[in-house]
Amino acid sequence: MPRQPIVTLAHFLTSGDDMRPLLTPAGHSHAVARERHGLIIGRVRMLALLLAALTVAWVGVDAMSFRWPAWGALAADRLVSAGCFLTLACHPRWRRGRLGIAPALGLLVGISLAFYLTAQLMLGLMGASAPGFLGEGAANTAYNDLPYITAAGLALFPLTALESGLAGLAILGATALSMTVWPEILEGESLANALWHVLVTTGIAGIAGICQLRLLITLTDQASRDGLTQALTRQAGAELLAVRFANAERLAQPLTLAFFDLDQFKDVNDRYGHEAGDTVLCEAARRIRANVRDSDTLVRWGGEEFLLILPATTLADALPIIDRLADGGLGLRPNGNPQTASIGLAERMSDGSRDWNDLVAMSDVRMYAAKRAGRNRYTAVAGCLIPFIRPDLAGAA
Ligand code: GH3
Ligand code: MG
Ligand code: MG
Repeated sequence: MPRQPIVTLAHFLTSGDDMRPLLTPAGHSHAVARERHGLIIGRVRMLALLLAALTVAWVGVDAMSFRWPAWGALAADRLVSAGCFLTLACHPRWRRGRLGIAPALGLLVGISLAFYLTAQLMLGLMGASAPGFLGEGAANTAYNDLPYITAAGLALFPLTALESGLAGLAILGATALSMTVWPEILEGESLANALWHVLVTTGIAGIAGICQLRLLITLTDQASRDGLTQALTRQAGAELLAVRFANAERLAQPLTLAFFDLDQFKDVNDRYGHEAGDTVLCEAARRIRANVRDSDTLVRWGGEEFLLILPATTLADALPIIDRLADGGLGLRPNGNPQTASIGLAERMSDGSRDWNDLVAMSDVRMYAAKRAGRNRYTAVAGCLIPFIRPDLAGAA
């Protein structure tokens, strides 16, 4: 039976896994960021709805635990907090995806802690003077548990260590504040002990969040990458290109596409078999990726067709990249000759593209022009075709 990898620090350190995406959200790919956003906002809204309902339902317990007007003041606090939770759960702007991860989590934790502190303030002001039918102990215990419940709730979300840490700090701060101002909450326990319990709960929730995040990254990567070449799939690439195009439009920046079609590739399969073809395909993709920046993205657009997305790059900046690729080559065919490609380039601003489909279509048309002109060439302007791999090196296919 295959051994399942155990998610431990030692595993990360020895397996060479990149831990950075688990520490901060800064390096998350577009696909991971989008999946995580949908998941977290959905769960924030679900939890906010549940908390709104529970916050109101507890008014009944308060009414039996405290005399009027004490429970009335707590009920008013509860109604305000429930209204905030309800707004977070149901606001139409949030439903249209306008709420970011940090504000959503900040609001959820913030409303919970604000309710905890205001309730403690009222309980402090009322003192033990107003026990009702159940006696104040029953309700007080539930109020004192709020920081632990908030910390445990973090376990529902695929959070980075930084996000869990910041939320944990806010919870610790609110707990320390309330227990210092109203030490009777401690009921004989030491402050250090109570804070330690909050810290442990936050730590366990943080580990649960990191494990969820790791799984999310693995699954999203598997779904958005082509298993053979590790380039983005066409669907994931099209989504990314739409985002890159919109960003470039917003910032008035250039965006260049290079459409690669490997030349006479069917011949490799026909003469040397599909496995030899796969090897040539992988090597070509590896070499293209090795020659571009981290911010550039290679997409497998079709069988032996690749789209290279170059953000913030003009045609003048892109041409040296193509020349560099030509110098290093795209790898060898099984007969030892270099694998060549026909390449079409297009740029958003200089080509006046209306949308990303337009830009792809333009680079595709130019790639076909290079193909029709005899293959192994690239073009960025109609009628101007430049040899790709030096013809004396390219040899016969
Ligand atoms: P041209 O220079 O005109 O582009 O000729 P071509 O042979 O490259 O083009 P054509 O479209 O006729 O053939 C593309 C071939 O790519 C056909 C298909 O079998 C092969 N191919 C597509 N995907 C894969 C793959 O994943 N592995 C392998 N080995 N071959 C693939
Ligand atoms: Mg093709
Ligand atoms: Mg081809």
